Amino acid sequence: MKKVVLIPGDGIGPEIVESVKKIFKAADVQIEWEEHLAGESALDKLGFLLPISTVGAIRKHKIALKAPLTTPVGKGFRSVNVQMRKELDLFANVRPIVSLEGVKTPFKNVDLVIVRENTEGLYAGIEHMVGDDAAETIRVITRKASERIGRFALKMVVERNRISENRLTIVHKANIMKLTDGLFLSSIKELAEKYISEGSLHRIKTMTVDDRIIDNMCMQLVQRPETVDVIVAPNCHGDIISDLCAALVGGLGVAPGANIGDDCAVYEAIHGTAPDIAGKGLANPTSLLLSAVMMLRDKNIGDHDNADKIEAAIKKTLREGKMVTGDLGGSASTMEYTDAIIANLWASERR
Ligand code: ATP
Repeated sequence: MKKVVLIPGDGIGPEIVESVKKIFKAADVQIEWEEHLAGESALDKLGFLLPISTVGAIRKHKIALKAPLTTPVGKGFRSVNVQMRKELDLFANVRPIVSLEGVKTPFKNVDLVIVRENTEGLYAGIEHMVGDDAAETIRVITRKASERIGRFALKMVVERNRISENRLTIVHKANIMKLTDGLFLSSIKELAEKYISEGSLHRIKTMTVDDRIIDNMCMQLVQRPETVDVIVAPNCHGDIISDLCAALVGGLGVAPGANIGDDCAVYEAIHGTAPDIAGKGLANPTSLLLSAVMMLRDKNIGDHDNADKIEAAIKKTLREGKMVTGDLGGSASTMEYTDAIIANLWASERR
């Protein structure tokens, strides 16, 4: 049986992890969870925020599902999420943003993916003080990392192969950051042109490559999000539009995410640890659940039948709207919502 590393995380993490475990068991998914710690719970029990045993297990099994983690503030710790991405070279942050029937938002037909470069740019953490009253950060963009994320995003366009239009949108601020974002933009544009002229996108007939300045992209996303297909962006721009786009389809509680490298992938809930509701049985597990569904479709698992079945049951439960959690306007507990999804698993099986 395929082993998957499971990181229960902090705050509401263990509660939403229980929901995933229960639904996967009910659907008889043939994977074996191997639990490892990270975040504050790892610091308390093992003395490290990111124990070497956790990183080693992900390297070994190549795939992990991670609940939100706490990095203690003001004690000089580096973000545990950033550390994990760096240790495992998880260079692509992937956020599918898809409208869910029953989840109230002003938008109905959103279906896009944000591919964010995860290893460099503003979040590389190369900072220093200049005397007492100024601070500097160094924003590195390389051709190598830009081409790598560009190739990943182009592959995503091909895999999605949309009926309406295949489009790669490169997001940047190259009008101001002419060298760094200029290099990001030109590297990916040249790569896409090469792919198109060589016919490397053979599965799809046509693809449009365009680019948007980050501020203009934000405006378009809140006006006509249905016109966007795959977005590729450097680290900080990608981070900001990822949360903006999650809000288009109902917020952080319902959007999935993953950090993917050449060898390993970590699927994750995109929200934080929500300490205000932790331990109360109120958390919405949908973000982690949809990430777990994405994980089942990963090349290292490839269980598309169960992915489709569980996804259909989640969507049906949301569409019905009777058994949803407080953040979605309902009054169900995490486990009542979980049980409603399980009931819908059987309903979809009976059809
Ligand atoms: P962290 O410090 O780990 O980032 P946070 O609570 O500050 O955690 P968010 O995850 O962005 O950060 O949470 C913001 C608010 O949204 C919180 O008040 C929380 O109650 C709510 N929230 C976040 N995730 C969920 C969820 N899965 N279900 C229900 N409410 C959630």
